[in-house]
Amino acid sequence: MASVLVVDDSLLVRRTIEKLLAGQGYEVRLAASAEQALEQAFRDPPSVVLTDLRMPGISGVQLCRLLRAEASTASVPVVLLTASADRRSRFWAQSAGAQGYVSKTELPELVQVLARVVGAPVPPTSLALMEPLTGGVHQRLAQLLDGALFASVIAGEIRSLARHDEASELFRAFSGLASGVLSYRWLALSREGEGGLFLHGPADSEALRAEVRGALPASKAVPQVFCDDLPGEGLRGEVLLRELKLGSRLLGRLALAPRHRGLPLEENTFLDIAARELPLVLRTLGLVEDARRLAATDALTGLLNRRAFTEAMERELARCLRHQLPLSLLLLDVDHFKRTNDTFGHTAGDRVLKEVAAQLLRSTRKSDLVARWGGEEFVVALPQTAAPGAALAAERIRASIEACVISFLGQRVPVTASLGVASLAASSLDELIARADAAMYDAKRQGRNRVVLAAEPGLPFFCTKAPPGLPRDMAH
Ligand code: GH3
Ligand code: MG
Ligand code: MG
Repeated sequence: MASVLVVDDSLLVRRTIEKLLAGQGYEVRLAASAEQALEQAFRDPPSVVLTDLRMPGISGVQLCRLLRAEASTASVPVVLLTASADRRSRFWAQSAGAQGYVSKTELPELVQVLARVVGAPVPPTSLALMEPLTGGVHQRLAQLLDGALFASVIAGEIRSLARHDEASELFRAFSGLASGVLSYRWLALSREGEGGLFLHGPADSEALRAEVRGALPASKAVPQVFCDDLPGEGLRGEVLLRELKLGSRLLGRLALAPRHRGLPLEENTFLDIAARELPLVLRTLGLVEDARRLAATDALTGLLNRRAFTEAMERELARCLRHQLPLSLLLLDVDHFKRTNDTFGHTAGDRVLKEVAAQLLRSTRKSDLVARWGGEEFVVALPQTAAPGAALAAERIRASIEACVISFLGQRVPVTASLGVASLAASSLDELIARADAAMYDAKRQGRNRVVLAAEPGLPFFCTKAPPGLPRDMAH
């Protein structure tokens, strides 16, 4: 027979409900306060607890939280009774983990509500189960309050990480927070796709990386490691893992290696809060990264656009001037591109531009900056490369473009380009571009499909023409 523990400070209410429920075949137990109810429930858990919301001393909502936090009563459903169908009471009842809510003005509803909740599974509480009760009920209430305060402070701190717009900065702040409240051997965050893998540990070692990769098997990325003076070895508990999901979408994973065996209560509580709060933070970061990428990218070719190139070049130029390093710039313009469009159409023209972009990426180093300057013009910056090296690179690019086979509707679309090369000395990007541009126009004048080097300021141009494609002193 299902048993109902009825908790209400009013004798009249207790008697009324006892009569109603006994008539429905329930075994009815009575308690005049939350304290009495807790004592009874811990001793012999009932099938369901039906409690008044407002009582002197411990309230119905607090009683509900206390029951949910105790292993022996965590799965006992709780139904709250209130004087009116007040929406605020319903909100607090739900947030405390109650399964039902009935107004005393509509007691007949109670029978249906009880029939629904008795025996139905109680979803696991979002509150961490606590160690078995040792002190009194009031001490446990204080513990719960501390726990709720801890959870809300940590949740707020994690949410505020959304202010970081760089993944590594975000992880550094997150691990700073985690290591401030927990003691762990290491903590790792992997993001799906190209999002990266971040590790906070005592020191970077191959063994540690292997352990992290073993815990986060989906991640192939090379971890970005933040070393810290975390205490060295110590006991090894089982690695704790959480998926970071927004709806059904997996955004990443979190792994933490505790420093002790046994039940890692605090670590689990922290990770549960992080698993709830971090996904939205990561999503925000992802959107910022997408927006930044789109703003810096040319939609047709996927190369950097002019603005992003200019920004990156200002930094590069300042660095090279400061350290007196060489730097060269290539400006490339597709020859007779108007004719290509007129003859084969714009779609073919676009294909040519994409192919030129692909050739540029293939023929340059990772450290070079490759961008679409506008229309059918492209620009490449070659850091730490002086004029002879830049001339070779330009010639390699010119030759690769000439060798491109682009077919459109069964016809081969011919494609060649003219390149101007300028190297430091120049004191500004504008000056360097202007010199490369002048050299490129000289290449056009000299018949196209060739590389021309801008002379040092004050000297004439030099030209290379395929096939020899050699540095300036050998070009004539
Ligand atoms: P030159 O050899 O002297 O450089 O001659 P050109 O025809 O390449 O030079 P011009 O500047 O006269 O023409 C450039 C053409 O590039 C005109 C423009 O319509 C075309 N163009 C610019 N951007 C795009 C684009 O995104 N797609 C396509 N299909 N064509 C473009
Ligand atoms: Mg042009
Ligand atoms: Mg052109």
